[in-house]
Amino acid sequence: MQHPMTTQEQTGPRPPPGTSEHTAPWHALPPESVLSRVESTEAGLTHEQARERLARHGPNVLERERGDGVLTLLWRQVNSPLIWVLIASAVLAVLLGKVTDGLVVAAVVVLNTLVGFVQEYRAGKAIEALSQMVPQTTPVLRDGHKQSVPAADLVPGDVVHLESGDRVPADLRLLHARNLQIEEAALTGESVPSRKQVDAVAADAELGDRASVAFGGTMVTSGAATAVVVATGGATELGRISHLLEQATDLRTPMTLALEHIGKLITGAIIVLSGVLLGVGLLRGYDLSEAVLVAITLAVAAIPEGLPAIVTIAMAIGVQRMAARRAVIRKLPAVETLGSTTVICTDKTGTLTRNEMTVQAVWTPRGRYTLSGVGYAPQGQLQVEGQPVEQPPEDVRALLLAGALCNDAALHSREGRWEMTGDPTEGALVVAAEKVGLRMEAERTRHVRVDAIPFESEHQFMATLHAGEPGGRRILLKGAPEVVLRRCALESGPEPVLAEVERLARQGMRVLAVAQKAAPSAGDDLRMEDVEGGFTLLGLEGMIDPPREEALAAVKACHTAGIRVKMMTGDHQATAEAIGVQLGIHAPDRPGMTGARLSTLDDARMAEIVADTNVFARVAPEHKLRLVRALQAKGQVVAMTGDGVNDAPALKQANIGVAMGITGTAVSKEAADLVLTDDNFASIVAAVEEGRRVYDNLIKSLAFVLPTNLGLALILMFGVAFFPIQHVEGESVPLMAMLPTQLLWINLVATVTLALPLAFEVRERDVMQRPPRAPDAPVLSHFVVMRTGLVALLMAAGALGLFLWVYRQDGAGQSTRALARAQTMAVNTVISFQIFYLWLCRTLVGSLRSVGLFSNRTLFVGIGILVLLQAAFMYVPFLQRLFGSAALSLEDVGLSVLAGMVVLPVVGLEKWLRSRGK
Ligand code: ADP
Ligand code: MG
Repeated sequence: MQHPMTTQEQTGPRPPPGTSEHTAPWHALPPESVLSRVESTEAGLTHEQARERLARHGPNVLERERGDGVLTLLWRQVNSPLIWVLIASAVLAVLLGKVTDGLVVAAVVVLNTLVGFVQEYRAGKAIEALSQMVPQTTPVLRDGHKQSVPAADLVPGDVVHLESGDRVPADLRLLHARNLQIEEAALTGESVPSRKQVDAVAADAELGDRASVAFGGTMVTSGAATAVVVATGGATELGRISHLLEQATDLRTPMTLALEHIGKLITGAIIVLSGVLLGVGLLRGYDLSEAVLVAITLAVAAIPEGLPAIVTIAMAIGVQRMAARRAVIRKLPAVETLGSTTVICTDKTGTLTRNEMTVQAVWTPRGRYTLSGVGYAPQGQLQVEGQPVEQPPEDVRALLLAGALCNDAALHSREGRWEMTGDPTEGALVVAAEKVGLRMEAERTRHVRVDAIPFESEHQFMATLHAGEPGGRRILLKGAPEVVLRRCALESGPEPVLAEVERLARQGMRVLAVAQKAAPSAGDDLRMEDVEGGFTLLGLEGMIDPPREEALAAVKACHTAGIRVKMMTGDHQATAEAIGVQLGIHAPDRPGMTGARLSTLDDARMAEIVADTNVFARVAPEHKLRLVRALQAKGQVVAMTGDGVNDAPALKQANIGVAMGITGTAVSKEAADLVLTDDNFASIVAAVEEGRRVYDNLIKSLAFVLPTNLGLALILMFGVAFFPIQHVEGESVPLMAMLPTQLLWINLVATVTLALPLAFEVRERDVMQRPPRAPDAPVLSHFVVMRTGLVALLMAAGALGLFLWVYRQDGAGQSTRALARAQTMAVNTVISFQIFYLWLCRTLVGSLRSVGLFSNRTLFVGIGILVLLQAAFMYVPFLQRLFGSAALSLEDVGLSVLAGMVVLPVVGLEKWLRSRGK
């Protein structure tokens, strides 16, 4: 392409007086001036220059604004109705002269806030780090060679290549562009793609009208271009406004919102109950200060303050574990949704299969051949019925040459190993050509490529225009057989060829047809009109792409987990079905579906068909979108994979959009909830498994925390309602099984040390053997509510029972010493009860044996800390004074531990009944 120096004269205004080439904006300058201003050429920079410029300009990254500041985060912890209730309580207690109690309440508040803060901060950091785990690379010319470098290493003057699906890596001035369209929503908010071209535009053009430049952070939706980098990092347009774009790491998900809601309900209920308790206390003759204190204690003891922190941590742990299993979460709610996924719609090539293509079958109109050899090593033989063919016939050579020329893949040998760069489908064609003795490096210089129409899933072909001898100016075409045959003149019609395609595809092979024709015009551009017809068929190449072994296991896992797997591929129906049978998602006698047939169905019929068809062949992105909608209309929760630009709508529509980390386009990654760093189907299933685990652990934490809070509340309320009140020296001293400070102590130490470790619980053995959770199932399920009631009653009964028994025995509590002993034993009972109950919470219904005693080490740490704290509570004099506790004999400790054990047989029985009921 030529860029006359006069471009600026023709299409742009003259620079206004006073502006020279050195001050005019990039979009108003012709490409040559831009190149000279950034001291570069069309051949790009050398490595040396790039290194030197990188040192000068700094890396091409946007300064991320710090997410939420530390103070904001801290404030968020404090600013909840719950905490305000607690703070008010502390102040009130102090005002009423109960200074110790007030201080303990304050300690509860401070500790909870701190724990919540530290955890949320760490979780936020972890999630932030993940968002940078899928790095961007860019093809760039360095030392005259095209190579892929991290986008962060780009410098002004670099010449880069853009393709549909790419994210523009920096601000660029276009040098050559073909059908280039760029979506600039990130910058202008406009979601309709803008057309781009090379000619300079007016200097005062608005951002959206600067057609000759591409802005960093925008997305290429179609076409291709070469361009020179003019600004990087903070100097880009996006860099200037980046403070507007800060994606705060939002930690809220449907689950946290539901819990927030439940938290509010509980808080409201407790405030009412506290009022009632205050009234009851006063009626029974409590002093005002005493009555207020029990009301406050109730509020503090019964409100599950620790819950939000637990949820956040469970999520963050889930996200990290998913990342370790090659599934990077981009949107946090996906962690939950994954657990209720009912259908996974997946690509075939590369996701279910290995994407290690090998051409095994070769067909020309004159004969049928096989090619031996494995992998990308160009070692193998052309054979006819098992017998080697010494001299490959000319028609075979012509077919394989054309297939390897109409191609962007390249083969290198590095330290004796053969490596391929590019699309594996194309790589296989290069290897096949090399196997019959064609040296592609040399062939490519003999048949210079002038222009190309790249492969896109929509039109399923690729075409190239080659100049000069030998063979004259020719257009080469390769692609899906139907698409290529339609453009060929065939003497005996397409049927015999299609029969051959069918035969190969049935064996699970991916089949490509290759054709050529003489180039019609002398132009250097290859246009769509040029490839509409008049081709001569050279032949077919059939390649195998074996299923991934992990995919086979993962499909099985899905089936036991009640998740349907559906394959949606651009490949031939027979190929798709053959692979489907191998993977166990397709029965040979069932009809599959093709995109073409889907197009003829209305939505209602479509919804019926999708329900029981698992293999969809020759689907285009628009079919994927309709399929997701149809499945969702049937109430399914759909995970859908996609890699191309045009898959973005389907990815957004799906409940879980899954993008491919290796082969996926930037556009698809941007639209996705989940990115697979290994492109592997098995990683989706791993993520589902982790998602279920996270949810389980949240329920376990709930089932632990809620009964504990309710139990403490019951102990308090029962005492206020029924325990006697003594009047000593004009003061009324109510008898209590536990002092308010002691209740607060339990609340203070136990939640953190015991409930938090549940978030680290390993997954249960049956996690993938149950059906998916209903997405609208309430968080407070029947199960949680029943368990909470049962356990709270037991806990209250245990603590109150032991207290009364000890107290009565001990001379009816005439001494304060006897009272302190009984109360300390009650506290111990609750604590040991919690420790035992914790083990029961490790599985929801299963037995402890099924998860393994030692599988969650954090539990031991938590329990160890709690036991030490509890020992301090009993034996450290300062704490004795603060909490009114007493040093217990070993016998008494044993007794309270025994009382706490009541939970084991009862909940054990409940679990056993539940597991039998299933
Ligand atoms: P998949 O869903 O398996 O990734 P694609 O959309 O990539 O399917 O491919 C659909 C069809 O297009 C293939 O069956 C093949 O015939 C053809 N095809 C695939 N890759 C190329 C390519 N690089 N050039 C030409 N044709 C291709
Ligand atoms: Mg593909």
